[in-house]
Amino acid sequence: MNVAVFLEHHEGELQKGSLGVLGKAASLGGDVVGVVLGSGVKDLSAQAGKYGAGKVIVADAPELEAPLPQPRVDVLAQLVGEHGIDTVLFAASVLASDVAAGLAARLDAGLNWDLVDISEQDGALVGKRPALEDTVYVDVGWTSEPRLALFRPGTFDPVESGGEAQVEELAPAFEDFSTAATMIEQAHEESEGPSIEDADVIVAGGRGLGGPENFSLVEALAKALGGAVAATRAVVDAGWYPYATQVGQTGKTVSPKLYVACGISGAIQHKVGMQGSGTVVAINKDPNAPIFEFCDLGVVGDVHEVVPKLTELVQQRKAASGLRTTRRPPARPSSSLSPQTRRKSGSKSVS
Ligand SMILES: Cc1cc2nc3c(=O)[nH]c(=O)nc-3n(C[C@H](O)[C@H](O)[C@H](O)COP(=O)(O)OP(=O)(O)OC[C@H]3O[C@@H](n4cnc5c(N)ncnc54)[C@H](O)[C@@H]3O)c2cc1C
Repeated sequence: MNVAVFLEHHEGELQKGSLGVLGKAASLGGDVVGVVLGSGVKDLSAQAGKYGAGKVIVADAPELEAPLPQPRVDVLAQLVGEHGIDTVLFAASVLASDVAAGLAARLDAGLNWDLVDISEQDGALVGKRPALEDTVYVDVGWTSEPRLALFRPGTFDPVESGGEAQVEELAPAFEDFSTAATMIEQAHEESEGPSIEDADVIVAGGRGLGGPENFSLVEALAKALGGAVAATRAVVDAGWYPYATQVGQTGKTVSPKLYVACGISGAIQHKVGMQGSGTVVAINKDPNAPIFEFCDLGVVGDVHEVVPKLTELVQQRKAASGLRTTRRPPARPSSSLSPQTRRKSGSKSVS
């Protein structure tokens, strides 16, 4: 196999999703090439080497400065032709999805998307893709080369292997039609703290919050825990919170160490986006809410009471641990929260 992984980058950082796919590709064996496309991006190749790329191909050109797909399609098509690449892998994003679709059209190649795994079986590459609203997995393959694949965001965590990549520069040639579009404006969403894709802690709000104004409760808890805020589709569809924060089947896939679900029922379409989380804590006033079937710690209670108390307790603990680093932490203060614990088999509890 001769695999190329499209390494997306923003503001001088290779994206976590791309590095995760790179690590997965490296684990398959065969030759793995990381592909970095942009302007002033040569230094990024060192990052790629650390995460499993034996070789990095860099195309550095002003035409690649704006995050537009067509010039990238030109370079990847050139790379496939000149380097005998038989497989090109992408971590899904708006840009990567555009590039992958453009490359599939340009090369008349098969593209499997929304994959959550890939493996070699009897000499053939086989992808795994959720289907029927994520209730089953199906195996998918390719009938010709090159094989193109887009992976769900957050599917693989990057694995630091500490290696060094051999760097090769590619002089790109662009089609006239590929450089006809120009980027007129690029806006960055103002946000504090980590993004939901990168956060170790996520506090997510659902319709149980009762209205957009109550997201301040979720934001305060996320701030106290040093985490990011996420939402359900019901909430973003109602305009309570931005679409970019939606977790689930039609939103983002996240895998934080801690996921705190506030007023979320736990519909299957939400679950599939957060089931890779380490510890799941759910706060819901309905003891029969489906989320209690797959959380690690369940609190049956009203979010308007429980969440502010929890925030206060976290703040107190942080303050106490800062002041009394050599003493035992305060006793576990959860009795007033009426916790109902329903453990997933083999899972750990929160302390
Ligand atoms: C094709 C398709 C794709 C979808 N994709 C997604 C997706 O990507 N992400 C997603 O999230 N959903 C998705 N959905 C929607 C999904 O099916 C659910 O409708 C949605 O997740 C429900 O959101 P929710 O939990 O916020 O709201 P609800 O289901 O209304 O749940 C609210 C919960 O809050 C609890 N509650 C109410 N008041 C309080 C209170 N005061 N204190 C504590 N608890 C309280 C209730 O008991 C209830 O369990 C999709 C649906 C379809 C059909």
